[in-house]
Amino acid sequence: ERQDLEAKNRNNLLFAATVSLLIIGVLAAYLRRQLTVKHAKELELLAVTERLETAQEKLRQMVSTDHLTAIANRRFFDNRYREIFAAAIENGEELSVIMADIDWFKPYNDIYGHQPGDQCLQQVARTLKDSLGDADCLLARYGGEEFVLVASLGLQAALTLAEQARQNLIGQNIVHSGSPYGKVTCSFGVASIRGLSVASPEQLLKNADEALYLAKTDGRNCVRPFQ
Ligand code: GH3
Ligand code: MG
Ligand code: MG
Repeated sequence: ERQDLEAKNRNNLLFAATVSLLIIGVLAAYLRRQLTVKHAKELELLAVTERLETAQEKLRQMVSTDHLTAIANRRFFDNRYREIFAAAIENGEELSVIMADIDWFKPYNDIYGHQPGDQCLQQVARTLKDSLGDADCLLARYGGEEFVLVASLGLQAALTLAEQARQNLIGQNIVHSGSPYGKVTCSFGVASIRGLSVASPEQLLKNADEALYLAKTDGRNCVRPFQ
């Protein structure tokens, strides 16, 4: 009778163990499946996030780039220039602004048409960009046929850079029968942070613009510093 009881107990234990194992197995399979689903969802979320970030970067590029010349636009310039100016003041660094404006561009459009005018703008922008080399500069299209360049340079170095850009543009030989030079040229006005009476980004721009006016009245196709 005791043996019967022991056998019964063993059977019960075996049964309990089997049921427990079964439950554990089912639970483990269920959890594993949940984890896989979660993992797949996480991967999907990661891919979506990546796509969103790429789109966001593209949008950022689009709103800050001039669609014609592919350099920075006025909006981007206005924001970035303030930051660059503030940093230069704070760190006591050199900073210069170069304003460049295409000479006799209205006659160019009148003679050759608007589309060749657009192509000319693209070539001028490219030439200005190539003239910068490795220099730490911000180049932007400031207005219609006007460009602005901000460089961490003193006045002399900025004048040299502008002169190099002027010569590079002449080297492009873009024929312009409406210009006394026979080709497309630019006038440049240069102003430096050291020549500022009031340390504001607006004042530095204004000084460069005044220098550009000097270059225009001095016959164009030349570089003038702010006086
Ligand atoms: P200056 O030598 O004094 O600078 O004379 P300018 O003729 O270059 O200057 P003005 O301001 O009289 O004319 C600028 C011209 O630039 C007029 C305008 O039609 C042209 N322009 C501005 N933006 C664009 C553009 O995106 N494409 C084309 N094709 N022309 C443009
Ligand atoms: Mg012009
Ligand atoms: Mg102009």
